[in-house]
Amino acid sequence: MTIDHRLLDLLVCPLCKSNLVLKRDAQLRPTELICVADRLAFPVRDGIPVMLENEARPLPAEEDVA
Ligand SMILES: [Zn+2]
Repeated sequence: MTIDHRLLDLLVCPLCKSNLVLKRDAQLRPTELICVADRLAFPVRDGIPVMLENEARPLPAEEDVA
């Protein structure tokens, strides 16, 4: 399963409802969905976004989210 752009359009941050930035690995598989406003990275496991605050990874200040 892959995340297509229509699905990505529907996914928003569960905390602030802003749009998310999809990160991919070197094989272009989705790895994380990032809320830039909250600096949280939600994991994508086996192509399934895990939109749970307690599963999210806080982004270190030095990590580029652009
Ligand atoms: Zn957010």
